[in-house]
Amino acid sequence: MDTFEYISASHRVVFGTGTLQQLPSMLKTINATSVLILCTPQQIATAQQVQSIIGHDVGVAIFSDATMHTPTHITDAAVLVAQEKGVDGIVSVGGGSTVGLGKAISIRTGLKHLCIPTTYAGSEMTPILGETENGRKTTRRDIRIIPTSVLYDTDLFKTLPVNLTVYSGINAIAHAVEALYATNRNPIIELLALEGTRSLVEALPVLQTDDQNTEARYKALYGAWLCGMCLGSVDMALHHKLCHTLGGTFNLPHAETHVVLLPHALAYNASTPATAGAMAKLAGVLPGSEGDAVKGMNALYKRLGIDLNLKGLGMAEEGVDEAVDIALANPYKNPRGLEREGIRELIRRAWTGEEAG
Ligand code: NAD
Repeated sequence: MDTFEYISASHRVVFGTGTLQQLPSMLKTINATSVLILCTPQQIATAQQVQSIIGHDVGVAIFSDATMHTPTHITDAAVLVAQEKGVDGIVSVGGGSTVGLGKAISIRTGLKHLCIPTTYAGSEMTPILGETENGRKTTRRDIRIIPTSVLYDTDLFKTLPVNLTVYSGINAIAHAVEALYATNRNPIIELLALEGTRSLVEALPVLQTDDQNTEARYKALYGAWLCGMCLGSVDMALHHKLCHTLGGTFNLPHAETHVVLLPHALAYNASTPATAGAMAKLAGVLPGSEGDAVKGMNALYKRLGIDLNLKGLGMAEEGVDEAVDIALANPYKNPRGLEREGIRELIRRAWTGEEAG
């Protein structure tokens, strides 16, 4: 029997359909009377919807320049607007890029941060912030980074394009997969990881053919929330490190990079006896696995018709060896040791798009 530690985040989460209407009362609860609303240029209409619900006297301005990988010059500009407007809180509405900007502003200024996620990336559940300065991305963990409150409204996912629904959903599953074999895993997180994966695995194929299916949309967001808690609670390993390395070095899209690498990182780690228990549990929630997690993941990809590879995402072939060097440069915890040949084969397969195994 294992000895373990479980640390829970103390922030309020409201989950449901049509919950956006609860935003005024949620802001009151955290004593935010005047807020800056954050979004990307693509989601200004959603930010305006938020502003109309809370009123222009509370939602005093919209900052719509949130960008992938949280560049610090964008944060500088947003902080300036927050100061000019004299706000006492921020509301981020969007995917991981917008949530990241909210986190960056709140850790710098101490402003309360209410977060309204619109993808399944899970950043709202983590005390982690990745920022980019002069082309270099660095990541830090600080409990003050976690948003003050989170509002999940399944209605906001009606506009998420089908391909991003699938890719972002797999991004969430990746958090659960690595939580199952994390060195600091615990029974609570294991339950969340398995339930989160089960939920997403059921929902994604339905959403792919019927993207307005309300039950599946609810199930997907519920699963993503649980997977986000996994990401925020235990250490991630090879898969997340590779995504970080490749995403940052080759400027690859976030969710798609997760999708390409997950089966290969899973296969790499499945080959050590240290993960046998985790793999058996994962296989139990993957239909078609026949007790083999890698086979189950490949079956899920086949069912979802996923056909992505690093080459298609724009990474040059010379990048394979460069990626291996970077992946091995800074050692980190992983259930299987980091072996050059094995890592090279993993990245090579991900580059060509061969089936994982
Ligand atoms: P994203 O936030 O970049 O969104 C991708 C695009 O989809 C954007 O144009 C966005 O406006 C649009 N979009 C989002 N939701 C939509 C919706 N419901 N309807 C229509 N369009 C919508 O993508 P992402 O994958 O959510 O986030 C990626 C970023 O988040 C990366 O920078 C990554 O590093 C970061 N991230 C951080 C953590 C963490 O814990 N720190 C966790 C996960 C992701």
